[in-house]
Amino acid sequence: MVKKCICGTCIVLNDQRVLLLWHKKLNAWLPPGGHTEQNETPQETAIRETLEETGFHVRILNPGSSELITDSNTKEMPKPLAIMYEGVRYEIGEHEHFDMVYLAELDGNENSSVEDHEKTELRWFGEEDISSLDTFDNVKEVLQRAFEVAKASK
Ligand SMILES: [Zn+2]
Repeated sequence: MVKKCICGTCIVLNDQRVLLLWHKKLNAWLPPGGHTEQNETPQETAIRETLEETGFHVRILNPGSSELITDSNTKEMPKPLAIMYEGVRYEIGEHEHFDMVYLAELDGNENSSVEDHEKTELRWFGEEDISSLDTFDNVKEVLQRAFEVAKASK
């Protein structure tokens, strides 16, 4: 049976550059992200995975809205930049991922405590680098959207 998973991903923008990491198995530059753990919201997942994979603390942005609606029991959550439905083939079987891709920014507490097992190449790319990036077309399109949304919300 195909397993359905909720995932969280961060498109981290800083100074008009985006933070990507080199995924050795997939041979592609990808934004940090991964599966939600128990009792974790997708936003928390995206923030945690970004910290684990890159060493950067980030804050999720909510582009296009000034304030999130909130009352005593209900809270509007930040809008993902995109919700990607991804078919993933692992050795143990197939997964269908509902990947909440958030726009994020650095929260000012940089560190370099990337966990060793996740240590990989990190790089900041500009918008001009996207078209020739070694990655999937859907990633290029989401990154392009991130740059456009960030420009529009300035
Ligand atoms: Zn999965």
